[in-house]
Amino acid sequence: MLELRNVSAAYGNIQVLHNIDIEINSGEIITLIGANGAGKSTTLMAISGIVPVRSGKILFEGKSIHTLSPDKLVAQGICQVPEGRHIFPALTVQENLDMGAFLRNDSEGIKEDLDYVFSLFPILAERRSQDGGTLSGGEQQMLAMSRALMARPKLLLLDEPSMGLAPLIIKQIFEIVKKINKDHNTTIFLVEQNANQALHIADRGYVIENGVITISDNAENLLHNQDIQKAYLGI
Ligand code: ATP
Repeated sequence: MLELRNVSAAYGNIQVLHNIDIEINSGEIITLIGANGAGKSTTLMAISGIVPVRSGKILFEGKSIHTLSPDKLVAQGICQVPEGRHIFPALTVQENLDMGAFLRNDSEGIKEDLDYVFSLFPILAERRSQDGGTLSGGEQQMLAMSRALMARPKLLLLDEPSMGLAPLIIKQIFEIVKKINKDHNTTIFLVEQNANQALHIADRGYVIENGVITISDNAENLLHNQDIQKAYLGI
């Protein structure tokens, strides 16, 4: 479904991604793990058209997409839930969700998806008239994920969904990521510092160090890899 071929990206003169290759098949959950500053968010932002690709190619369903603008990528089915959520604080929960469906005009489908996100996160239905900025961190994460789901993505890019959340909420968020993947065969690319949780729901994973992909394997092998255990799993 998605292929990064030899992708490099930079902020000004500082190159952050160095010739990375990643492949994601339809229906998979893939995780990208790495230390602070390794280039995880930059990888997601290169896919979603926010950080320009300096060299290499990104293909989505066989077509080259690395020159498309973020709105065109959303229309093609690629949606990112950014690190730090970035919900619209002065808009209500309902209005944030409406923004997620901004590019759509299939009112029946939008209604179905609204019912679906409220079934995933019933608290959002209770809070639908509340301003987004007044939600708790966990609720804001749920809203950011729901807003992305309102675009009915084929590929959902999740950047550190567990960041700053209490363990119980983290567990719930990971269970729901798995459920989203199963319910609609939504392909998921998950960036996480919480490598242990991420590898427990992922099919495969990549490790990025200083902007270079150093390891790629199935999740089971990564969980038992001693270097990964030492560096990322605290074992
Ligand atoms: P974290 O887990 O801390 O979010 P990360 O793996 O997601 O880390 P990135 O956010 O992709 O890492 O950052 C990779 C490198 O790019 C870092 O050295 C960072 O300082 C740099 N960087 C990120 N955003 C910018 C920017 N807008 N301008 C300049 N440098 C940036």
